Amino acid sequence: MDALVRELQRAVGSRYVLSRPQELLVYEYDGAVERALPSVVAVPGSAEQAAQVVGIARRHGVPVVPRGAGTGLSGGAIPVYGGVLMPMTRLNRVLEIDVAERTAIVEPGVVNIDISKAAEPYGLRYAPDPSSQKACTIGGNVAENAGGPHCLAYGVTTNHVMGMEIVLADGSPAWVGGRSHELPGYDLRGVLIGSEGTLAVTTKVAVRLQPVPEAVTTMLAIFQDEDDASAAVSAIVGAGIVPAAIEMMDRLTIQAVEPAIHAGYPPDAGAVLLVEVEGLRESVAEESEEVQQVCYRHGATEVRVADDPTLRERLWAGRKTALGALGRLAPNYYLLDGVVPRTRILEALRRIREISGEYALPIANVFHAGDGNLHPCILFDERIGDQLRRSKEAGAAVLRTCVDLGGALSGEHGVGLEKQEYMDLCFSDADLDAMARLNPAFGAGDTFNPGKVFPTGASCVELLQHPAIARLGADAFV
Ligand SMILES: Cc1cc2nc3c(=O)[nH]c(=O)nc-3n(C[C@H](O)[C@H](O)[C@H](O)COP(=O)(O)OP(=O)(O)OC[C@H]3O[C@@H](n4cnc5c(N)ncnc54)[C@H](O)[C@@H]3O)c2cc1C
Repeated sequence: MDALVRELQRAVGSRYVLSRPQELLVYEYDGAVERALPSVVAVPGSAEQAAQVVGIARRHGVPVVPRGAGTGLSGGAIPVYGGVLMPMTRLNRVLEIDVAERTAIVEPGVVNIDISKAAEPYGLRYAPDPSSQKACTIGGNVAENAGGPHCLAYGVTTNHVMGMEIVLADGSPAWVGGRSHELPGYDLRGVLIGSEGTLAVTTKVAVRLQPVPEAVTTMLAIFQDEDDASAAVSAIVGAGIVPAAIEMMDRLTIQAVEPAIHAGYPPDAGAVLLVEVEGLRESVAEESEEVQQVCYRHGATEVRVADDPTLRERLWAGRKTALGALGRLAPNYYLLDGVVPRTRILEALRRIREISGEYALPIANVFHAGDGNLHPCILFDERIGDQLRRSKEAGAAVLRTCVDLGGALSGEHGVGLEKQEYMDLCFSDADLDAMARLNPAFGAGDTFNPGKVFPTGASCVELLQHPAIARLGADAFV
């Protein structure tokens, strides 16, 4: 261990190697509920240093777990087998913006929203906008194939990334995909996007940019219950309108958000939809009128229309900070990411209500309704009895419901540790075997992020997740 630390210090500088217990504790968790400590943290300042870290870890026979901002919700950045945790956050430069080609090349630690900020002076933006976009990194977005509210109209990360520079497990650099346009041949870029840091480390990303729309209108449609709001979602899309976003929040979420953010959501509403249309001024006016009519036909009690940027921002602030606001209701949440066909949202929400009752845990719903991408948020207190265990069991019941309704385990948060034991609900052994063959094709072995995505037998992971205090002792706390 000492030799490993010394070599890492030589590679990235002593300041950027953390190995004291109280330093490691900061890296034992991400946005999910699982925890495990790394053996050491090394923060490279360049792609070359990242390659050196990979080489050193490999020589010492320990894994490397790449990490972005740690906002992942499926435990992807949790080092279940210890080893070297490698945050990529020092690689945070926008290297190039090509206005004519509408592309940018950025380092993996660039925060999602900073790409749009850098492109804004040229009238451009990066479209995928996870609700965590003020914190999460593009490297994490690529690894998880992240989505966001506006991915309904524009597609998810894979539709906006043309290529990446990567470091392979033997420490060698490679470029997959194009720097400014599509390339013929096998789509290795597509294979790596969504591979959750298990095949390679991303060190540069070439992204597409798109023009900022001429006009944007955001509508807050207020409903007495989730049933009417769900029916309105299907009806909007069924009417041939393709809004940029359709997001839903239920009563419990509104009750947490409104006192915290003052977004203007009526506290007594049963559910609200945030619907955004954007594009040319004339078509936006026409579509927003149509959306309002559909919502009223499906029982909306009121539809508020915001064209002004300040008002729109306020409406979105409620949605984008909803998860933080849920902290007012319980100290912990377990956020799920199942998908159902849009037409079955209503059934899914009813079943989620039942599951909430069966496990005696409140479940708030705040989600990308237009995509059928549910985010049931199970609220619990890990300090109380068996609430953590019950929340995981309730989560499993929700995921099964999504698959039974013809949906999928994950819309955008990835599989990570959270859903690996449920992969067989969606995939046959042959499917999983075909996916596993990508590991030797990339020569990854056990180097990158082992213990993720594929079923391992839950107990083996749980055994490794002793509470940090048990391993580190009382002096772990600073
Ligand atoms: C409040 C909140 C709202 C969210 N909303 C959304 C949403 O709307 N849509 C959505 O898709 N997600 C959302 N998320 C989840 C999360 O923000 C995304 O999954 C995001 O892509 C993770 O980025 P990160 O930088 O935090 O990555 P991390 O959590 O640090 O890592 C995630 C995975 O990426 C891998 N990784 C990170 N960097 C690299 C790299 N350079 N090379 C290789 N692998 C790497 C890690 O090993 C890990 O497996 C939300 C999370 C929170 C807390």
